[in-house]
Amino acid sequence: MDNSEKIILNKFLKIANLEVKKFADFFKVPPPFFKLKLARNRDEFNRLAKIETSEPWLAGMFLAGKPAKIILLHPVAVEKEGIHFKEDLEKILKHEVAHLVFNEVYPLSQPAWLKEGVSVYLAGQTKRANFNLKFFSENGTFPLSLTTEEEWKRARKFGAYGISGKFIKFLVKRDEGEKLRFFIQKLPKENYNKEQFLQIFKEVFKTPLVLIAQDFLKNLRKEVRKNECRTKARNPSGIRLC
Ligand SMILES: [Zn+2]
Repeated sequence: MDNSEKIILNKFLKIANLEVKKFADFFKVPPPFFKLKLARNRDEFNRLAKIETSEPWLAGMFLAGKPAKIILLHPVAVEKEGIHFKEDLEKILKHEVAHLVFNEVYPLSQPAWLKEGVSVYLAGQTKRANFNLKFFSENGTFPLSLTTEEEWKRARKFGAYGISGKFIKFLVKRDEGEKLRFFIQKLPKENYNKEQFLQIFKEVFKTPLVLIAQDFLKNLRKEVRKNECRTKARNPSGIRLC
C-alpha cells in the first residue's frame, strides 16, 4: 500500500472509529473490534464479501465474524461501480458501522425494519429519506410487513430504508431511546418469533407496536402534506390553498 492509499484508509478508519464509539455509547456496549477494507472495484468487493453483488446501490457491507469486517468501495471506484457519489461514502460507512454495533446487541436478521431502521437512524440518513407513504399504508401492517428478507427486497424500491429509519427516530424521540434500548436488550437473541417480539414490545413501550406505528404513519401523513403545501406556496403562479 503506498502512502496516498494509507491516507485514504486512515481517513475512513478515523470516521469509523469515532462512530463505533458513538453508537456503542448509544447502546451502552463496549466498542467492538473490526477490520475495514476498501475495495478498488466490484470484483474485489465481491471477493472480500464472499458473495456475488451487482446491485448498483450497494457500496458498503458489514460482515459478522471474528474479526467483524466492513467493506467499502474505494472512492476511485464508487462512482464507476454504482449509483453513489464519492461524497456518499461517509454516510454509507456510518450505516455499516451501525450494523456492526447493533449486531453486538441484536444479532438476528429479522425483523428487517428494526435492523435497517436502526442503521439508517444512527447514520443520520433520515433527513433526505424518500418513501412512498401510500405503499406502506396499503401493503400489509407497517412495520410488520417488513420483517423477512423477501418482504424487504420487495419494499426497498418504495423507500423501506427511509421509512424504517424514520420510525426508529420516532421511537427514540419519545424518551431519548431508553425504551428502545431496553426493548432490544430484552429480545431473545435466537430465532425470531413474532408473537414473543410483539409481547416484549408491548411490555416495554406500554403500547402495542401496531398502535404506535399507526400514530407514526398519521404524523408522517401530516408532515408530507405540510411539505406539499410549502412546495405549492413557493410556486409563484399558484394560489396558496393550504
Ligand atoms: Zn443496512
